Amino acid sequence: PGAQLPHDPEKKTLVVLGSGWGATSLLKSLDTTDYNVIVISPKNYFLFTPLLPSVAVGTLNPRSIIQPTRYVTRHKARQVSVIEASATEVDPINKTVTFADTSEIQGQVAKTTVKFDYLVFGVGAEVQTFNIPGVQENACFMKELEDAEKMQRRFLDCLESAAFPGQTAEEVNRLLHMVVVGGGPTGIEVSGEIHDFLEEDLRSWYPELANNIRITLVEALPSVLPMFSKQLIDYTESTFKEAKIDILTKTMVKEIKEKSVVLQTPDKSIIEVPCGLVVWAAGNKLRKVTQDLMARLPQDQTNRRGITVNGIAMHANYPSEHLRMAGTDGSIFAIGDCTATSYAPTAQVASQQGAYLARIFAQLAKRDSLEARLTQLRSAASSDEGRVEIETIEKQLVKAEKLRPFQYSHQGSLAYIGSDKAIADLPFFNGNFASGGVATFLFWRSAYLSTLFSARNRTLVATDWIKVKLFGRDVSLGS
Ligand code: FAD
Ligand code: NAD
Repeated sequence: PGAQLPHDPEKKTLVVLGSGWGATSLLKSLDTTDYNVIVISPKNYFLFTPLLPSVAVGTLNPRSIIQPTRYVTRHKARQVSVIEASATEVDPINKTVTFADTSEIQGQVAKTTVKFDYLVFGVGAEVQTFNIPGVQENACFMKELEDAEKMQRRFLDCLESAAFPGQTAEEVNRLLHMVVVGGGPTGIEVSGEIHDFLEEDLRSWYPELANNIRITLVEALPSVLPMFSKQLIDYTESTFKEAKIDILTKTMVKEIKEKSVVLQTPDKSIIEVPCGLVVWAAGNKLRKVTQDLMARLPQDQTNRRGITVNGIAMHANYPSEHLRMAGTDGSIFAIGDCTATSYAPTAQVASQQGAYLARIFAQLAKRDSLEARLTQLRSAASSDEGRVEIETIEKQLVKAEKLRPFQYSHQGSLAYIGSDKAIADLPFFNGNFASGGVATFLFWRSAYLSTLFSARNRTLVATDWIKVKLFGRDVSLGS
């Protein structure tokens, strides 16, 4: 990259919280010429979540689906500060963010505060456990990279422990019973990936155990994948049936013990089912930093699902559709999973919101420079020429003040369901086009490959797929 412009105290400070789908999409498109940008995130990388379940069974290498945030920021016109830290507090009145180094190694300063002119709040969400006993202690999650790595280790450890000589048949069956909680897309994809691992690799690596491996998906609602059309729900259920993945609907997990799950069955009876591994994919909740920020604006932030960015006009010039946080003076924007909007909390929505904000910031910069010029002209001795320029700029300013509202364009829903099959609900000529099967799987792979942000990641993922086809998945139990 060429030389970047240095930090400029004359420019406004734009603080971005997070390095996920929303924040990364913003950073990709943002013109940093007019801003001093500071990115604060406990992860110094972007995680491509749709392929996370593939990491959990070793189809993909963990590093193939992450991209250091500095890969994006180093190409920017003005230097961007990337700080590996967690925001702990946002003060919307004094416009400050306090953040802490929460990593293992810390320097002399582990906590500090910065001032912002604009803040983009894109911290995502965290796993919802509903305070169900044992979830935190005994289950694996599927949210962060380390969750997928942990699941892979536990899964392989269950296999090796089952292969340990002298186990009773009962204990072997327990260790080889994998329970996935949550029939949303995450739970479905994890179950599908475990199934593929079993059929494509474990049958040859562990022939004596393979027939005893069981996968059970537990869902509290009457059906899985409520966001997909009925036809695709049926298709998924029949594919799972063929794949011998048991789906228990109307069944609620009440407790997770070290060696079992406690279930409430549809007839409300309680049963305890032995298992070796539990993957918890039962949805998300707000992070503490988000809850705390909302609590500072109790009049406007009353939605328990997340930050309200629409519905309340905050300022005549800044209508709420511009993703500005309700109750603030318009300097805080919120995007992605931490918000409560009419859209589903998906990567598709967050990334479109990020790209939209990049356009808004370009327009705000233009407005600011017009305003500055206007002030300059107005304070200078007036001449005819000056008056003409003032009029022109005033007209340009009216245009620059008009910010287009955010509009979401739904590209369709896609999910991998295992057995080289995927399902897709695509908006098609104002109707819906539902498709499932192997062709959809190829579409799924190519769609995800093309949405991966960098050529580097595309190459890594494609290479991993080829490696697995040629050599199978790695079953060595690394640390
Ligand atoms: P995130 O991408 O979660 O990013 C949040 C960022 O904030 C992270 O970088 C995090 O480290 C950072 N952060 C956390 N705490 C703090 C803090 N205190 N201070 C500063 N930064 C902080 N959606 C789809 O549309 N299609 C899919 O196929 C799909 N598949 C998925 C598969 C899985 C396994 C999962 C878990 C999710 C999937 N999703 C999918 C949903 C999608 O990942 C989320 O909707 C998306 O990540 C939301 O983007 P975000 O920017 O709001 O949050
Ligand atoms: P989710 O909220 O969509 O699904 C969680 C499921 O767990 C729900 O159906 C809920 O009824 C069930 N559940 C909750 N508590 C339970 C309990 N105690 N016992 C049994 N079942 C219980 O969560 P998700 O699948 O992680 O998805 C989160 C978001 O990410 C969604 O917006 C989703 O669309 C998106 N996502 C999309 C894709 C994709 O498009 N391929 C993949 C993954 C995630």
